[in-house]
Amino acid sequence: MLPFHPSIRQKITLGYYAIVAIIIGISVFTFLELRYVERKIAFGEIISEFLNTTLEIRRFEKNYFLYGKVSDYQETLRYVESAGELLGSNSRAFTTIATPQQISLVRENLPKYRKLLEEYSGLEEEGSRKVLIEGKIRKTGKDITTTAEEISKTERRHLQVILNDSQSVLILSILTLSFLAIVIGQVLSRMVVRPLKQLEQSMEQISSGTFEIIHIHSKDREVISLTKAFNKMLRELDLRQRHLVQTEKLASLGTLLSGVAHELNNPLSNISTSCQILAEEIEENDMEYKKELLRQIEEQTDRARNIVRSLLEFSRDKDFRKEALPLRKTIEETIRFVKGQIPTGVEIRVDISPDIVFYADKQRIQQAFLNLIRNAVEAIPGEGSVFISAQKHRAVDKAEEGEPEIYNYLNYHGKCTLEEDTVDIGIRDTGVGIPRDLLQKIFDPFFTTKDVGKGSGLGLSIVHEIIEEHDGCIAVDSMQGQGTVFLIRLPLPKEMRTMEQREKEETEE
Ligand code: ADP
Repeated sequence: MLPFHPSIRQKITLGYYAIVAIIIGISVFTFLELRYVERKIAFGEIISEFLNTTLEIRRFEKNYFLYGKVSDYQETLRYVESAGELLGSNSRAFTTIATPQQISLVRENLPKYRKLLEEYSGLEEEGSRKVLIEGKIRKTGKDITTTAEEISKTERRHLQVILNDSQSVLILSILTLSFLAIVIGQVLSRMVVRPLKQLEQSMEQISSGTFEIIHIHSKDREVISLTKAFNKMLRELDLRQRHLVQTEKLASLGTLLSGVAHELNNPLSNISTSCQILAEEIEENDMEYKKELLRQIEEQTDRARNIVRSLLEFSRDKDFRKEALPLRKTIEETIRFVKGQIPTGVEIRVDISPDIVFYADKQRIQQAFLNLIRNAVEAIPGEGSVFISAQKHRAVDKAEEGEPEIYNYLNYHGKCTLEEDTVDIGIRDTGVGIPRDLLQKIFDPFFTTKDVGKGSGLGLSIVHEIIEEHDGCIAVDSMQGQGTVFLIRLPLPKEMRTMEQREKEETEE
């Protein structure tokens, strides 16, 4: 059975529904809470109306006692009636706010008040009885208003508590919603953004030339298929680049072959001449001369053999293996390969001390030198020179010395400093130079300014790769119309340095 892979779309939809459900839940809760507050406010209004009615009772009662008007008496009775009706028809509002004692107190006092009032109005004469009843009416009336006030106060307190609670619930809801939104956002971001970020980083690596298969730890269907497609593309790219590198190598081999053919011509014609002379002189008795001719033939054969050997060495597909090599000899051998392609107006000068030994894979480093020398030669339009020089550079001297003074150019493009002793090799030409804005592009694969079919744009990217394989670095500086210089720095292995130092110490002794 195929493993189940959740998809990013499902996760986002799920997150979206989760947030919607939470918002709906909170909205329903807030709505119910509002309804509750609304009901409480309605109760509050009833209580307030009740309090107002009791206050009206007292107002008309007072007027009635003062002026004895029948209308005041009737108004008082009417308000007593309304208060009774309010109490009767809103018992739920009263039972939720007032205590049972308060309710029964009002229930008892209202009819009692009414009765006392009726009794008072029935008494014709002024007298002690009337005064007594008046006092009772006032007291009962006061009890009613006091209770109504107490109930109203309790109701206001209730309302305040409810409002405070609603406020807290609202704040809590906002906080919960924000928290959940952050959590869901984080989870989604971890699930979605992180793999995408990894993909982005991998792409950056790829754009800088590292074709490494990417591994993204994600179970999401989209990321998995994207990674698969990406890796497939990478393999394809890698394959194609290998093909192109191989093509570039073949092109170098072509250069080399023509150089070698040219080079082989000399010893072969020397051998041929020596053979001809020998054939003519064979009858003569001058043995010394004949020996000399044979020695020359052997020497020229050796020369031809060496040329063929270096060609074989260059073209064989070998594993990368570094060895101690004499720098000057290696460079001279490389120049021999391109000799056939050097126009007559171009001169190659080598200024390298014969005792500089460096550590490299011969075939690879020769390919790098070959590409650089070929580029330098091709950059010279008519007459000009290519200077190749080298010097050792001690890490300890750097601070005092600054940059090496192999060349006059100062602004090398690209940082090329190593924290150890190095061999610095410079290849300078008096060619057309490279415009400043192109300098940063020349090491990019497939960057070329040459015509179609003439340049693949892979030469310098291969040089860069080879120098990196050797833990070295390469920098370039150029002035348009004046020339270009490449600086290659290769680290000197420790054991070689100590060996040299020892030799130096021994000679000093
Ligand atoms: P290609 O030689 O196939 O074009 P390279 O990678 O070797 O590819 O070089 C890339 C580009 O860099 C060249 O097309 C050329 O414009 C420029 N270049 C390289 N070396 C030199 C040089 N010594 N002088 C001037 N331009 C150079």
